[in-house]
Amino acid sequence: MLAARLSEDPGVRVALVESGPRDRKPEIRIPAAFPKLFKTAYDWDFTTAKQEALGGRALYWPRGHTLGGSSSLNAMMWVRGHRADYDAWGEAAGPEWAYDAFVRYFRRAERWTGPTPRDSVYGTDGPLWISPLRDPSPLTFAFLAACHDRGITGLRELNGPDHSGYATTPVNQRKGRRWSAADGYLKPAARRPNLDIFTQTRVCGLEFEGKRVAGVVTAGGPGTLTARREVILSAGAIGSPHLLMLSGIGDPERLREAGVEVKVASPDVGRHLQDHLAYAVTVRCPRPVTLTGADTLPNLGRFLLRGRGPLTSNLGEAVAFVRTRPDLVAPDIELVFAPAPFVDHGLTPPTEHGLTIGVVLLQPVGEGRIDLGGTAATTPPRIDPGYLTAEEDLRRLLVGVRRAEQLLATPALAEHTAGPLAPYPGVVDDEALAAAMRGSAETLYHPVGTCRMGSDEGSVTDPRLRVRGAEGLRVVDASVMPRITRGHTHAPTVALAEKAAELIREDAR
Ligand SMILES: Cc1cc2nc3c(=O)[nH]c(=O)nc-3n(C[C@H](O)[C@H](O)[C@H](O)COP(=O)(O)OP(=O)(O)OC[C@H]3O[C@@H](n4cnc5c(N)ncnc54)[C@H](O)[C@@H]3O)c2cc1C
Repeated sequence: MLAARLSEDPGVRVALVESGPRDRKPEIRIPAAFPKLFKTAYDWDFTTAKQEALGGRALYWPRGHTLGGSSSLNAMMWVRGHRADYDAWGEAAGPEWAYDAFVRYFRRAERWTGPTPRDSVYGTDGPLWISPLRDPSPLTFAFLAACHDRGITGLRELNGPDHSGYATTPVNQRKGRRWSAADGYLKPAARRPNLDIFTQTRVCGLEFEGKRVAGVVTAGGPGTLTARREVILSAGAIGSPHLLMLSGIGDPERLREAGVEVKVASPDVGRHLQDHLAYAVTVRCPRPVTLTGADTLPNLGRFLLRGRGPLTSNLGEAVAFVRTRPDLVAPDIELVFAPAPFVDHGLTPPTEHGLTIGVVLLQPVGEGRIDLGGTAATTPPRIDPGYLTAEEDLRRLLVGVRRAEQLLATPALAEHTAGPLAPYPGVVDDEALAAAMRGSAETLYHPVGTCRMGSDEGSVTDPRLRVRGAEGLRVVDASVMPRITRGHTHAPTVALAEKAAELIREDAR
């Protein structure tokens, strides 16, 4: 995205280096097929350290390994978050990151294709198509009715400043097909003579001249690339801190322990890792109306010919943002509705009809960290998300599960359910539910915060996203978020990259 924005200026030469292959696999375009990309060449296929509070389980963390990054294999949900998220960024990094100043960057990215009332919050001429779902499941409407019956507010716009309430999910799709950041930004720019795109080329480290970062060392591509102006890391919340540490930027003690020469002491690199932990409440559905078994030839035909039908589903078709306590400034739980049983990341296709309410902990107190797993660039980093290390997090998640169970008990949803689907045990007491949650909670794929920006000297990046202590180096990706948002992390990452493009241009002047 950034490469496309920066190369709009013909006076700037941009090299984009991507470790994965080009994004040509047909499953990338078919929304409901995203789990089929997991554990393939298009996925980094990370595994976390064992999580003590999750029964010692090591969790699977997919990340996009292709042009467009994770936007090429994500669930396409365009959810900006709550005003309070960006006001917290403003407190950490200055008022220009607070909601009122920052919201324009969402609009700059967006090309909303749904109905546009006069006061629509969306941009309509940006590169990223945002659309209402074309053919949501009838079960999704039952979920919305259940939310209404429980007194949750129906939202006309999910992406307004306060998203407390329920709505169907706006998605990154164009005419029913995935529309990734690469589709929106990179492809129209790809033929520019001042943009070089290297795929299947892995950045292994940074090259220094004193404190200045002079370029990157790559494997599988052009060797060393020298930067006349600057190097921008956009390797994501795992890749960016990993590359900084491999290159000697990080906590000096830990770097020395790992055998890496310290170039810049920056203890927060890799720290403050935050993610959204989710627990899937899955129940059987007595009628064959779910997405189970939807990948039939007729449905594929419908999708290919008209961009319609169940294969346009992103699974997470509707959401509700709720509070576990009425006095909270903003929602702390998200309920994501899927008209299918979503278990084991969809790696094992479901055989039974069912539905899922994913209960998501939006503002975890517990944090984790990324550390070097070894000094070779190909050795994966050690990822410790620190899930449920704060007792408060388990309590809130549990209250969220009770809200999901209340929705399932409404007449609107009850007529579509027929008992729990494992591993969800059904309505049990708090102790048994907590054990079940520890046994099967999973990531919602939203790691952030590992190169956090801030106005304080201890932050990894400053409010202009420059790496403190180094020259000629910025980080622009989800890792710079000072705090995880109460939404999904693609939209804020795109918006912050839009802002970064502006900052980079200003600094060049
Ligand atoms: C399965 C899944 C579902 C998700 N669903 C949603 C959703 O529905 N809505 C939402 O808002 N968010 C969702 N997300 C999260 C969202 O996609 C990410 O927050 C967002 O893409 C982060 O962008 P990023 O630029 O920080 O990192 P990424 O998108 O991960 O991009 C990093 C890029 O850097 C490349 N890279 C990394 N290391 C190197 C290296 N050493 N050399 C060269 N290249 C390298 C990677 O291959 C990748 O292309 C999902 C994520 C996943 C994995």
